[in-house]
Amino acid sequence: MRRFLLYAAALVAVLVAAGYWALLQPAVEMWVFRHAAARIVERPAPVLAQKDELSVLLCGTGSPLPDRQRAGPCALVAAGGRLFIVDAGIGSVRNLMQWHVPFENVAGVLITHFHSDHIPELGELRLQTWVAGRRTHLSVYGPPGIGQVVAGFEQAYALDTQYRTEHHGAAFLPPAAAPMDAHAVPIPAGATTAVVLDQNGLKITAIRVHHAPATPAYGYRFDYKGRSVVISGDTTPDEDLARAAKGADVLVHEGLQPQMVAALGAALKTAGKDRAAKIMHDIPGYHSSPVGAARIANEAGAKLLVFTHLLPPLPDWIARRLFLEGVAAVRPKGVEIGHDGLLIRLPAHSDAIEQTTLRG
Ligand SMILES: [Zn+2]
Ligand SMILES: [Zn+2]
Repeated sequence: MRRFLLYAAALVAVLVAAGYWALLQPAVEMWVFRHAAARIVERPAPVLAQKDELSVLLCGTGSPLPDRQRAGPCALVAAGGRLFIVDAGIGSVRNLMQWHVPFENVAGVLITHFHSDHIPELGELRLQTWVAGRRTHLSVYGPPGIGQVVAGFEQAYALDTQYRTEHHGAAFLPPAAAPMDAHAVPIPAGATTAVVLDQNGLKITAIRVHHAPATPAYGYRFDYKGRSVVISGDTTPDEDLARAAKGADVLVHEGLQPQMVAALGAALKTAGKDRAAKIMHDIPGYHSSPVGAARIANEAGAKLLVFTHLLPPLPDWIARRLFLEGVAAVRPKGVEIGHDGLLIRLPAHSDAIEQTTLRG
């Protein structure tokens, strides 16, 4: 019996060694790679919205603080087949690529304000939509000042455009299609909103919010086939936003938990990191606490409040519970903490709010 076990163990060892040796052969490795690659590229583009649906996909729910689980601020709104991207935070374009979002259907980009965490991947959006087959200029809407930001990215990406056209050919990557066009959307003094676009049943409205000294800063409302999504942008709790978000199905609102940020600031100070501690001290003044955002959602009568631009990062369930401390007392239902990949679909002429998560 003992001899049999020894033989069996020796045989298993030989088979494992042989398997390992086989796996290390380039031909076998290439076979494994080919199968893995085929599995990845065969994945179809996700259905973001049916013909009559409005939907919102969170492509970045983080903030300027580093967070491996969350890209910088980004929301994609789909109205039927038309896609609009609100803000382009760090990592957001990579998220969209991993989810196989059809970049060729991006009809426009909207920027809420020009803080660095909201604009860094504008150049990547320009590039990836062009590579995906965009044949007209990419429209980029935003507060006055958008022209300066877009001109900067145009200049920074000019050499890249030239290289890629030379390398792949102008028939494949026509340089005339590459640029972005800036569309400044002024909101007149005394008004709090302005129409960005009203086309084929889709209306996009810019809403002035309060985020001084980043002025003007906007939120955006999307109305399509009786459904509506509002993106707050960065703001303090804002009555004008509540009015403009009246009856919205989904309000995607920023949130900064002041006690948690204060605790982070105190820890940084104790560690002698005074510069970072000062920033933690300064930022609550121009953001919204979760309780403040919940009040605005209630005033608006929004059906679902989804938090984004989360400060501080929320790595686990304890942090997420702390973030929502006090919110249930103000708004017992219809509150969620957003995450990258959350897709909320709103079928036309219905009250349904359907949620799924896209994964890379
Ligand atoms: Zn900001
Ligand atoms: Zn921000």
